Amino acid sequence: MKKILIPILIATLGLFVAKVIAQEKSQNMETAKTAPEQPTKKVEKTDAEWQKELTPEQYRVLRKSGTEAAHGEVYKEFKQQKGGTYYCAGCGAKLFTSEHKFDAHCGWPAFYDAADNKNVKLVDDVSFGMIRTEVRCATCDGHLGHLFKGEGFDTPKDQRYCINGVTLTFVPAGEEKKETPVEKKEK
Ligand SMILES: [Zn+2]
Repeated sequence: MKKILIPILIATLGLFVAKVIAQEKSQNMETAKTAPEQPTKKVEKTDAEWQKELTPEQYRVLRKSGTEAAHGEVYKEFKQQKGGTYYCAGCGAKLFTSEHKFDAHCGWPAFYDAADNKNVKLVDDVSFGMIRTEVRCATCDGHLGHLFKGEGFDTPKDQRYCINGVTLTFVPAGEEKKETPVEKKEK
């Protein structure tokens, strides 16, 4: 009896470990070597399309206004990242830069400003009995996190964009696509 049970137990344990690793992987922040193409108009997709394109965790946060676990894998990655730019994992719009990044010790990526104010949308959020300001991507309407003001952080702007890392794609500095100059053909 024991001889049969042990291999089954090992196999079950193996499957469990594989599942945990797979889950952790899907909760990482995406990194890319080149900056994504900047969307020129609003990005609208059906729920099924989003579900297909995004990882389950990205879908849960971006499309269902979920919140990633505090102090998770993404936060650890974020703290280790050097200079670079953060793009929307849903549509590629430029959202934040490392220039505005700071350690708020809150367990989520924090920025004191957006890369471009027109790329983020602020919405009043009264869910969970609190009055908060929700931050959404202005291009694809994906939920990014919340904006808190007046917390007294020692940053140039007394505000904290508290952002779910899975909603971002990080492109390290120097790997960003340079503005391509219009090529002129000499005759
Ligand atoms: Zn977006």
